[in-house]
Amino acid sequence: MKKDFTPTLLDLGPLQIYLARHFGFCYGVENAIEIAFRTVDENPGKRIFLLSEMIHNPQVNADLQSHGVRFMQDNYGKQLISFDELTADDIVIIPAFGTTLQLEKKLNGLGIQTEKYNTTCPFVEKVWNRSEQIAKKNYTIIIHGKPKHEETRATFSHASANAPSVVVKDMQQTIELAKYITGEKSSEQFYEEFKGQFSENFDTAKDLERIGVVNQTTMLASDTQAIADHLKQVMIEKYKLTSANVDERFADTRDTLCYATLENQQAVSGMLETDADLAIVVGGYNSSNTSHLVELCEEKLPTYFISSEEKILSAKEILHYNFYTKKEILTSDYLPTKKPVKILITSGASCPDALVEGVIKKIAAFFSNTINSEDLVKSFE
Ligand code: SF4
Repeated sequence: MKKDFTPTLLDLGPLQIYLARHFGFCYGVENAIEIAFRTVDENPGKRIFLLSEMIHNPQVNADLQSHGVRFMQDNYGKQLISFDELTADDIVIIPAFGTTLQLEKKLNGLGIQTEKYNTTCPFVEKVWNRSEQIAKKNYTIIIHGKPKHEETRATFSHASANAPSVVVKDMQQTIELAKYITGEKSSEQFYEEFKGQFSENFDTAKDLERIGVVNQTTMLASDTQAIADHLKQVMIEKYKLTSANVDERFADTRDTLCYATLENQQAVSGMLETDADLAIVVGGYNSSNTSHLVELCEEKLPTYFISSEEKILSAKEILHYNFYTKKEILTSDYLPTKKPVKILITSGASCPDALVEGVIKKIAAFFSNTINSEDLVKSFE
């Protein structure tokens, strides 16, 4: 069935908000938050640790911390609390992105049960299962993902337990990887160029003869497709394959993006068909799926990536994140003077809806003679 991705119009008179048809919280994040809070409720007096940030959302993580939950690592795997501090009595929650087999083993070795407090999203586990299937058929696993992202590190750990594996972060790296398939580049160069991104004893001469691609669940769909297509084409040319026998060298896999990533991206594409003045994307600055929504919007119109309404300083100034430079920047006169002002709004999979509501209310307060929220609700009845 064809899904409707037209945005919802909130017509406030001088301000028109076009809200993406799908945005915000996904199943995996809701499930993880629910398990985490239940764990807190059911275990009074116990020390509760989270292996790393639950999800990439500062408000949710702060809420958990205020309930006494402590983070063991930051997003990049930097240890904040030593494993030596843990005892078998402690609870350690595995976050929605999952974790590496090595860390799981380490915790189990300390007597800590990881199965009971594991919030790994089923869509991430699906990627691990897909990798295992490919591995069983003797394909090397190419993982398209951000090499330092927890989910990609976890997927790499699971994949490399079964087959030679290598991570490519983008098309540029994919093009370079292809040069080892064709023999244009030497294995010495590979070890330098892909440092920290390949499994132990990776041999470019034999481990790139049969390959399959999986991805971090939150990548940009168009990038993921282009990367798989490129590698497939390289294999076809190198081994003179046809569509009838390409699967001898290139595993027949569809992408492993999750439903929320796909729906949120498709909804942004639908929303971008509206002729608007600007877009606001709400979400955590280190959220992969949110950054891709920003990328899509930026292609079309001025886009402001903010973590909450607090970043909207006034009707004149907005503080927003540039994920290329990893810095917040201040922009003046972001709202046009003409009326009505048309704004597209969406949010990432780890962003509570209340934050989006906060953003809409903050902007609406800058306009006079707007339709009040009760009348607006009536218009939907
Ligand atoms: S973004 Fe997708 S994979 Fe990640 S937690 Fe949400 S549903 Fe799961």
